[in-house]
Amino acid sequence: MSFIFDIPSKRNPKEVEKAFENGTTYYGLPKDIVFCKSCVISNQRPNSEYEFKHTSDTKKRTIGFKNGICDACNFTSLKKTKINWQKREKKLRELCDKHRKNDGSYDCIVPGSGGKDSFFTSHMLQHKYGMNPLTITWAPNMYTPWGLKNMENWVNSGVDNCLTSPNRRVQRLLTRLSLENLLHPFQAFQFGQKFLAPRIAMQHNIELIFYGEAATEYGNPLEETKTPIMDINYFVNDNINDLYVGGVSHSDLINKFDLSLSDLKHYTPLTTKEIGNSKIEVHYFGYYEPWHPQGNYYYAVEHGGFVTAPGRLSGTYNKYSSIDDKMEEFNYYTQGIKFGLGWCSYVAAFETRSGDLTREEAVALTKKYDIEFPETWINDFLEYVSITPKEYPIASEHFEQPVMNRDYFEALVDKFRSPHIWKLHNNNWTLRKNCWNNSDLNLKQDDSATSWTGNNYFKDNQFIKK
Ligand SMILES: [Zn+2]
Repeated sequence: MSFIFDIPSKRNPKEVEKAFENGTTYYGLPKDIVFCKSCVISNQRPNSEYEFKHTSDTKKRTIGFKNGICDACNFTSLKKTKINWQKREKKLRELCDKHRKNDGSYDCIVPGSGGKDSFFTSHMLQHKYGMNPLTITWAPNMYTPWGLKNMENWVNSGVDNCLTSPNRRVQRLLTRLSLENLLHPFQAFQFGQKFLAPRIAMQHNIELIFYGEAATEYGNPLEETKTPIMDINYFVNDNINDLYVGGVSHSDLINKFDLSLSDLKHYTPLTTKEIGNSKIEVHYFGYYEPWHPQGNYYYAVEHGGFVTAPGRLSGTYNKYSSIDDKMEEFNYYTQGIKFGLGWCSYVAAFETRSGDLTREEAVALTKKYDIEFPETWINDFLEYVSITPKEYPIASEHFEQPVMNRDYFEALVDKFRSPHIWKLHNNNWTLRKNCWNNSDLNLKQDDSATSWTGNNYFKDNQFIKK
């Protein structure tokens, strides 16, 4: 496999149309796009996968639908009607009792960034269940000012935290590769997030790890709701030939991109040999306590002084969710490009399921804000993914243009637009199908939203007081 990343070429509207007529879809996505009748998610949403096997040829498994309703909404109905929460709370107490220590050492690990969800989980474990958790953080790519403040607030609220900040020289290169090959600028971060907790757990002889919500909250197969425990295959793998970061195999990263085995350790799953006799269990706290993202936000404000972003971020209306890393805007924007579902779709969908929004409001917000260009941190982002020859004398040789500018980024993004999702006409890309086409929108509300002036309050990395 050769590794010269050319400057992406412009897409031709006729070729896009021809591919559409031939039924071409990218990433193995379903050809016919269907939106959930109850929220704003479509059948294009991919499920979680074993990310370290992800290459540009990977076919996505997507969210299931039953009678026009998505699995995430079906799961919400289960939460409201079928699940016995008292029974689950009892189970959690038993689990905590089993792992509780009496020598002052930590009982469990809670990974997170001090965002609303990790705050809620660690605070509940401490104060409702009497546990002594160690919180751990895999540092964001680029802290936002309010993300950093929330990290401080978390520790100030009374927990120990172990912070691991990755080698940025390595992480930036891996992020550039995952952007070029997979349009997935968050992948390198996600590896660290998954693999760090079990490693630290072993160092401290802790066998219990709590993540927040299970992926079924967002539409992973309902089958997964039967167990509170994360599938071990998400962080354990013994086949070294099976490992990729940014769609590039570990051996190519070492031989061609000048990285070493130790550079890759945070991006490598654990082996069964490493795990040894340790009986690490990774549980989802959301299995035991009903999960409500906006509720967690109010909880974190009340108990930990959680601060929101000062205004809405590009691509969404929300100010409280996924706000700690400047990379989040790019993470959601690129998902919007690949699957036709951006940040607003995701937030509006879970707020609708939780009963915080009506579907009509969710549709109006999605129409207004979804897949908006990630303007807030664009300059920081372009600098982050630029692989200058001075910093990367060997790796940079694989890029026709190692320094990324806005034109390059926009052309790269266009390369990943599947013809069944996007139409190109007069240099404009539009969604072929969206959640508002066939919706009976409250137009009055939609009109009033047009007075919104967007992100004008934020210019040149400065907040402008209105
Ligand atoms: Zn739904």
